[in-house]
Amino acid sequence: MASLSLRHIYKVYSGGVRAVSDFNLEIEDKEFVVFVGPSGCGKSTTLRMIAGLEDISAGELYIEDRLVNDVEPKDRDIAMVFQNYALYPHMTVYDNMAFGLRLRHVPPKVIDEKVQEAASILGIQHLLSRRPKALSGGQRQRVALGRAIVREPKVFLLDEPLSNLDAKLRVQMRTEITKIHHRLATTFIYVTHDQTEAMTMGTRIVVMKDGIVQQVDTPTTLYDNPANLFVACFLGSPQMNIFKAKLVEEAGNIYALIGETNKVMIPKARAQRIIDKSVIGSDVLLGIRPEDVHYEQALVEAHPESVIDATVDVIENLGNETILYLNVEGKEDYTISRVNSRYSFAQGDQVKMYLATDRVHLFDPTTELTLMGVPDYNLIPAQCVAIDGTLAVVFGDTCIKLPDSVVARITDKSVINNKVTLAIPPRAFKSEKTSDTCVEIEGKAEFFDNYPKFKAVYLNVAGFDNYMIVGRGLDEEFVGGEMLKAYVDANDVQLFNRAGERIITDREVTGNETTAAVSGANNVYTYSLSAKNGTHAKFSLENTAGYSLNTSAGTTVNILSHGFTIDKAEIAKAPKCVITGNIKHLDEYRKNAVVTVEAPGFDNDLTVLINNFSGYNTGDKIKLGVDPRAVVFGAYETMAAAVARLQPEGEVRYKEIVAARAKEKELEAAAAKEKVAAKPEPKAEEAAVKEKAATKKKAAPVKKPSAKKK
Ligand code: ADP
Repeated sequence: MASLSLRHIYKVYSGGVRAVSDFNLEIEDKEFVVFVGPSGCGKSTTLRMIAGLEDISAGELYIEDRLVNDVEPKDRDIAMVFQNYALYPHMTVYDNMAFGLRLRHVPPKVIDEKVQEAASILGIQHLLSRRPKALSGGQRQRVALGRAIVREPKVFLLDEPLSNLDAKLRVQMRTEITKIHHRLATTFIYVTHDQTEAMTMGTRIVVMKDGIVQQVDTPTTLYDNPANLFVACFLGSPQMNIFKAKLVEEAGNIYALIGETNKVMIPKARAQRIIDKSVIGSDVLLGIRPEDVHYEQALVEAHPESVIDATVDVIENLGNETILYLNVEGKEDYTISRVNSRYSFAQGDQVKMYLATDRVHLFDPTTELTLMGVPDYNLIPAQCVAIDGTLAVVFGDTCIKLPDSVVARITDKSVINNKVTLAIPPRAFKSEKTSDTCVEIEGKAEFFDNYPKFKAVYLNVAGFDNYMIVGRGLDEEFVGGEMLKAYVDANDVQLFNRAGERIITDREVTGNETTAAVSGANNVYTYSLSAKNGTHAKFSLENTAGYSLNTSAGTTVNILSHGFTIDKAEIAKAPKCVITGNIKHLDEYRKNAVVTVEAPGFDNDLTVLINNFSGYNTGDKIKLGVDPRAVVFGAYETMAAAVARLQPEGEVRYKEIVAARAKEKELEAAAAKEKVAAKPEPKAEEAAVKEKAATKKKAAPVKKPSAKKK
């Protein structure tokens, strides 16, 4: 019994073949981990490094908490079972199993006990006196396993142990090995290229390609939530259908256009799993598994919005099911569907197939990474108003007042008393109020998804048209339709402005302010900067574009955070219009960055907003081009000061919002009443009986999304 830790492990064979790159994995005690991937992807090499049969080129390998990189194989307390059994032909089964123990001078009585016990686990007691050549393949593999079992290792390593067996025996041995794992309660690491073995045996699967780990997870999660196209296509047989598609939004719904003629709708609940909404309008790869391509007419009729036209080309009737190979316009290879074998088809049949788009997968065509998952944030259209001496974010019945420390970190003052997007990370939600800054959000729990470390619950919340995704513990149970309270700390929310920029940064925004003497004329001005700390700098603005420069009043200069560029071509156009400094802090989100720069001549660290940021790290020197239009004069107004200034307007705005919401609620209540009135009232007794029955019946947890919200 042992845990293993593989940290940044590399294997480079002589001749420069890099077989394994940066392999990281924590294996818990008693796990059954399967390494799977196509031939040559580095599975065996990794296993052999764990066994000590191969040197580790770089990285660290721990068994329990002991670094074992340089520990001899025999001292690692592991046993390895190979594909080709490696039994001694001249020894009996008993002796083959006892051999290792005899070498270790284990007393014969103990050896006998262990061999008998292992033989009984494997059901080979009757074979103990035979020689390997008198055994079948399956029996030989059992002996090889027995030889490993008697050693009572902490870790079992199995390298394609079933590949030499015929198909039927392989299936049988698969379950036997799983049983042995349960019985021995020891850590197993199993290498195979066979995805079925991986799916059926592993408690966790490591999918590898070209020496690189692609994804590590439970079989179900890998199957339902593949991280990239490779994992999606490697697991599952027949493999996932991949369509070239384009996503479009029409009347609030997301559709995928396939070829010239087919268009399918992606239901809201699924579309909400698109991590980055900016892919809408772009080309994607759309994946759908063969079991999610349906022929059943009832389904086709029930989902006219997600039906495609296809032509049957090849029909494989397997008895229990039929595999259809379909031609679909716009897709080069076949679209494969698994249908009930009671339907009959002929080559050339024109069919309509329903794509169960609530199970669709989307991938980026360039990176091949999934576009589906739990998004970083719930993005909630909201109002930002200055009230009660602070800034509050309001939607539906929820009002989140931002603490001063958050307000001071906002980079865009134009959001005050304006529309914003409130962004709450699913995992920021708590199930209890843990501080004074926690705000309660209540909603109806509709359905949930299990992720490796948490459960994503989809809530219907007043004032928000999409589902609110709330992260909860995996062990928490939910009943469909139940009201759920979630709490979010105002310190954990984020805001996006109308330009879609994330505007609460990690550090206080203090203004890019300093004292400057201005000299020059004719659209060329030089600014001599002196900071309170005694540092100096100079930069010149050469106005080649012909706009009017801020050169007039005052000696206090501010450069607006948006007024910088790192674009080398832009900088080259105006080489003197540059500020240099050192990067003290980076706050990056996607391609946008808020860069904190320490620059001579400025009183405070500069807050610099850069779109398409890349190529820099903290500590690097950075050259920033300055846009002349962003140079302004006068003292910097902090966010808090702006909030105070705009509060009277905010109070009015807030009253309007509250009144509008009250009206909305009134209408909702009236509509609900009307609905009730439309239903015939059950008789009093009947109602009582029904109520009694309802309280007895325990509602079942709901797993599948309901078709559409509202
Ligand atoms: P898998 O077990 O996934 O089939 P391996 O771990 O056996 O893959 O091999 C990974 C890569 O390392 C392959 O490209 C293989 O050719 C190479 N390789 C394996 N063993 C050696 C070796 N002894 N010397 C050089 N290259 C090797």
